[in-house]
Order: sequence, then structure tokens, then C-alpha cells
Amino acid sequence: MSKIFISCALPYANGPCHLGHLRSTYIPADIYARYNRMAGNEVLMVCATDEHGTPIAVKADAEGKEPIEVAKRYHDMIVEDINSCDISFDNFARTTDEIHYQISQNFFKYLYDKGLIYEETIQQLYCENCEKFLPDRYVEGICPVCGAEARGDHCEVCGRALDPIELVEPKCLTCGNTPVIRDSIQYFFKLSHFQKPLEEYISTNPYLPPNVRNYAQNWLKEGLQDWIMTRDMKWGIPVPLEGAEGKVIYVWGEAFIGYMSSAAAWSRRTGIPWEDYWNGHVVHFIGKDIIYHHSLFWPAMLLGRDCKLPDDIFAGEFLSLEGRKMSTSKNWVVWVADFVKDFDSDLLRYYLTINAPLNKDTDFSWDEFQRRVNDELADVIGNFLHRTFTFTKKFFDGKVPEYKNPSEADLEFEQAIKELPDKVGDLIADMKFREGLVEIILTAKKGNKYFNDQEPWKAVKEDMEKASNCLYLSNQLCKAMAVLLKPYIPNKADAICEIINIPTE
Ligand SMILES: [Zn+2]
Ligand SMILES: [Zn+2]
Repeated sequence: MSKIFISCALPYANGPCHLGHLRSTYIPADIYARYNRMAGNEVLMVCATDEHGTPIAVKADAEGKEPIEVAKRYHDMIVEDINSCDISFDNFARTTDEIHYQISQNFFKYLYDKGLIYEETIQQLYCENCEKFLPDRYVEGICPVCGAEARGDHCEVCGRALDPIELVEPKCLTCGNTPVIRDSIQYFFKLSHFQKPLEEYISTNPYLPPNVRNYAQNWLKEGLQDWIMTRDMKWGIPVPLEGAEGKVIYVWGEAFIGYMSSAAAWSRRTGIPWEDYWNGHVVHFIGKDIIYHHSLFWPAMLLGRDCKLPDDIFAGEFLSLEGRKMSTSKNWVVWVADFVKDFDSDLLRYYLTINAPLNKDTDFSWDEFQRRVNDELADVIGNFLHRTFTFTKKFFDGKVPEYKNPSEADLEFEQAIKELPDKVGDLIADMKFREGLVEIILTAKKGNKYFNDQEPWKAVKEDMEKASNCLYLSNQLCKAMAVLLKPYIPNKADAICEIINIPTE
């Protein structure tokens, strides 16, 4: 039995969840967590809403509200989205929680005291009309790398983290004026100091999947630059140093710490130390757009803080919608709340898992969703369960019959049922969630064929032993599927458990 710390990338509290969030992060993490709990491991799965940073501040300005009001509104929606899809977090917190402020400020101070954070006067964009510095998304312009339209801190097209000052033709987001350049004192994290240990971590960590390793190694080849850790703005966690009034910790300088502060809040509630889980096996589930932050920046911060590094960083690739890139600004998304109004969330969990392995981009299509749900879930699994249950009820008084003198076909099917749990378990443990589900479906297909071949509807009249063996084994497979489907489609699995009268826990 081992302890496993599972985190999901913190959803940013300026919008509800869409299917892309579920596919890349929450559903795979939940399958992994549920499986490990069932396998007897101790799991702590945490998350929180990420509530600082300029997008929320900008939105609040536009609405004439306080940032905390905007963040709270979306936090509540996100919690509802997550609950509606049965994502089984042990704790779901907020980066505006008091405990998160404490832990983040202590973290910052620790790095500063070790000389890993230093002051430097830099040039920043300043809007003379608004009389303020323009961090991150307070400015927009053209990406200097790829020429696309970019926000101040990040280019969505080429994925590069940017310094607003690099932008071509910058514009103040609030008033549209062209900003000027002014001097400003900021705090930097010595990321460059960790080049060697990070190269070592990335190349020797046996769990890192190839997409994460490759991205990280490419960035390492370019050489790491120190990271600016602070911003001149009101909304955020104050920099805990004298003389740093008016400055807050950059959102990426504290968001990761949300994994720990959410776990610490859980510890306060339960009295169980979360550190034991962190010192066990740590898995971060993230989307591929934040590989840089999780594979380099966060491990460097942890090294600086003398903490153990994450064991696995699992980055789900993107989900498009009907062949086009999802975009919240163009409203080309399916919101979770809309989806679950019309469909059982288990169907979504099923489809988003079976559709493609996580290390490949994939597409959400309504036709394909219907097809897979009908052809696979209903016609293969549903059909097998249904015929087994109705037949058992009709001819065996609802009791599982005896198994005697098995035939060749019985033995072969029995073997397939016996092998299934280990096969599926090994695949899930190895993060091959789709492959595990495929095994279950293939075995259910075998089950349907076996059932057809045994013709129990004839055998009950001619060869009772044959019919009994068929229904005995079919019930065994139903039982195995009820257990094995639980990490994937928990509600449907519980419904099967109830029918065959086995405990749902
Ligand atoms: Zn770009
Ligand atoms: Zn302005």
C-alpha cells in the first residue's frame, strides 16, 4: 500500500469548465484516483481555483466589481461542474484562502532568504492615461516570435511565455493608449541557477511521459532565464518583504502552491499530514499548454524550497470541437453545465476516455459521441448485462446457477474473465486509461459471442448444465465489469453493483 498525491491543474476562475478541461485533466485524474483507492492505495487528490492574476482583475474592472466577487462567482460554477461529473477530489480550495496566502508568502520568503529571489530594476510598460503599470494581460500586441496577436504574458499561438515589453505595437487593454516604458523594481527567481539539476530531473525521471520530456528538453536547450516573480498591482498575494508595498506575487509564483495549500487545508480538517502523501508518489495532471510551468518552473521552486519533486507530470493533449480549435472567446466550446443538462455525465466520461489516448489531440463530435454511446456502451456492454440479468431472473429465479463440468468454450471464457482485472488495473496504473476501457469492451464483446454460441435459451430445455455454466460465467463477467468500470463510469458501475447485489464501496 502506498500513498499517492494527485493534483489537477488549477482551473482559472474567470469562466466555467468546458469539455477540454475535463478531457485533458479532471477525468483522467479521477480515473487514476478511483482506481488507486480501489487497489488499496491511500490517495489524496486535490485542486483549487486559481483566483489571482490580471484576467480576473481586468474582468472585474470591466464589470465594476471587486476581483474577489468575479472569482467567487466562477469558483462556485467550477465546483458545480466538477461535482456534476463526479470528480472525486478530497479537497477543492481557492487560492484566495487565508492558508494559501500564508504558505505562498512563506515559500516566497524562504526563497528570498536563500538568495534565490533577488531585486532588479527593469523596464516595464506604463500607461500614462490610466496612471499604472501594465502587467500581463493589461496589455495586448503582436507576438515577437510568431507574429500572432498575443496577450502581454503569453502567446496562445506559439505557446511562448512573454514579457509585455517584447510585444510589438503594445496597447493598454483598459484605454487603448500606447504605453510608455518606465523603470520599476521587481523580484526575480533564479531559474537559471537550476539548469543542471533540471536537466538531470527531466532526463532521469522514469515516469515523465515523452511529450513532457521532449518539450522540457527543448526549452532546456535554449537555456533557462530568470523569472520575474512580482507584479505592480493590487489584486494578488502581497510580496512579504519590507519596501515591496504595492507589489504582489506573480500568479505563476503562487498558483502551484495551491496544490500544497489545498492539501494543507485537508490536513487541518482530517488531522492527517498531507506531507506523507507528497513524500510518496506525486502526480500532476495538467493540460499541455502548461508543461513549461510544471516541468521547469515548479520543480525549480521546489528545489529551492528543499522539497521533493513531482514524480509524474501527465499532460493531456488538446480537444477540438467538430474539427475546430475550441475557443472560449469565440464561444466555440461545449460548457460542462450545458452538457450535463441533456446527458448523463458518465456518458461524457466514457466518450472522452475512449475517443483517443491522452497523448494525442482529439476531436469532440456529436455524431461520434452518439455512435460510441449507442454502439459500444449500449449495444456491447449494456446488451451483455441486460441479457445476463433477464435470463438469470427468468430461468434461474434471479440466483446465479452452479458451475460444473465446464466445456472447452466455458474454460476459455472463464480465463478471459479471470485475466481482465489485472489487465485493466495494470493499464490504468500505467496511465493507459483508454486502453483499459478498450479491454473491458473487448471482453464484453467476447461475452456476447459466448452467450450467442452457448444458446442458453435452447440449452435450458436440452442441456441444463450448459445453460447453468453459461449464466454462471456471464454473471461473473458482469461482476468483474461492475468493479472495473467504476473508475470510468462510477454511477453506471454502482447501478450494476446494485442489480447483482454487491457493495458499491
Ligand atoms: Zn507567438
Ligand atoms: Zn490605459
